[in-house]
Amino acid sequence: MCMHNKPHSEEAKNKIKEKIQAWRKTSGYQDYLERQRQRGRKSNTRFKKGHKPYTDGSNLKGLQAGKKHWKWGGGRITAFGYILIHFPDHPFKSRKGYVQEHRLIMEKNIGRYLTREEVIHHINNKKDDNRIDNLKIMTRSEHTKLHLRERYATS
Ligand SMILES: [Zn+2]
Repeated sequence: MCMHNKPHSEEAKNKIKEKIQAWRKTSGYQDYLERQRQRGRKSNTRFKKGHKPYTDGSNLKGLQAGKKHWKWGGGRITAFGYILIHFPDHPFKSRKGYVQEHRLIMEKNIGRYLTREEVIHHINNKKDDNRIDNLKIMTRSEHTKLHLRERYATS
């Protein structure tokens, strides 16, 4: 799924580190954490299957101050059950500039970008339940095995 096949150079790694460190010092980061807390509480009532994606950002008005610090694009959409955040500055964004929210949340939690080999598993299998407690870092192969086991499990 990820199309970045080149390994990071040391220089690129340092750049990423600096970026995260700088970002963590901004008020945007605090806003972000607060949003995560809010979202955790509301996650049962929002973004259910079938909800239309929205991108106008009008529901994010209160968060303007933090926006410019980390290039919050104002866009939050869903695709295949996952929540995507418009984040054109992210090194592992999609071609249209989106990053899966659960990856972002884990990255913020561990303070570095996830590698291509790292996959985030949703423990309760709800793809839009991005509370940090519901997320688990696995390697690609561990993750594939886990889901294969689930599929063929007889109970
Ligand atoms: Zn999984």
